[in-house]
Amino acid sequence: MSYTEAQLLPISALEHFQFCPRQFALIHIERQWTDNVMTVQGSALHERTHEPGTEARGAVRLTRALRFRSLRLGLSGMADVVEWHRVEGDTVGVPLAGVGGRWRPYPVEYKRGKAHEERCYEVQLCAQALCLEEMLGLALPAGALYAGATHQRREVEFDEALRAETAAAAGRMHDLFAAGRTPPAEYGRKCRSCSLYELCLPKLCGGGHSVRAYLEQAFGGPPGAIL
Ligand code: SF4
Repeated sequence: MSYTEAQLLPISALEHFQFCPRQFALIHIERQWTDNVMTVQGSALHERTHEPGTEARGAVRLTRALRFRSLRLGLSGMADVVEWHRVEGDTVGVPLAGVGGRWRPYPVEYKRGKAHEERCYEVQLCAQALCLEEMLGLALPAGALYAGATHQRREVEFDEALRAETAAAAGRMHDLFAAGRTPPAEYGRKCRSCSLYELCLPKLCGGGHSVRAYLEQAFGGPPGAIL
């Protein structure tokens, strides 16, 4: 299966989908959005890394705001930072304009806070790598997540399990988008940090929660006793 350019969904949507399919649907199908402190901080961090440019740091070259896409996964996006590491051999790297030798890309994704071990971040990073692999015809063994709060980075290996999980998530996300349907809320810990909490009303709109049950919980009695 291959998608067309018009069918591409943003890689950032994959993080929303991994976090909560309902959040993905509210943002990308219903076009709802609201900021909380986490998304504002995250946007500020990304604005700094999304200024296009290149620079050299020793044996590593850096490209900011590099755009890419994968027709196989139906994804497009922009990398915060792609490092280019000098490699030996003709099959593991590509030439860079104005620089000798061959270079292999190493995507680096910036995240606010310390919670940079969440699987959804790894899936998003892997999606970037799969896009670069498709566009350049190269294999990318690893990339890194950078935590804005601690200024630490952690390497993520793009193993078979992560690649399969990323492709499967992209497929499920496209299925939900094509269906144009918003799933019911499933209230959980994730809801506490969700920027769409007030729009979603997860305690009211959950699949197992009726309006009657919500009113009883909220007002301490059945609707007839309240109204
Ligand atoms: S409030 Fe909870 S259920 Fe609703 S979109 Fe956010 S994470 Fe999903």
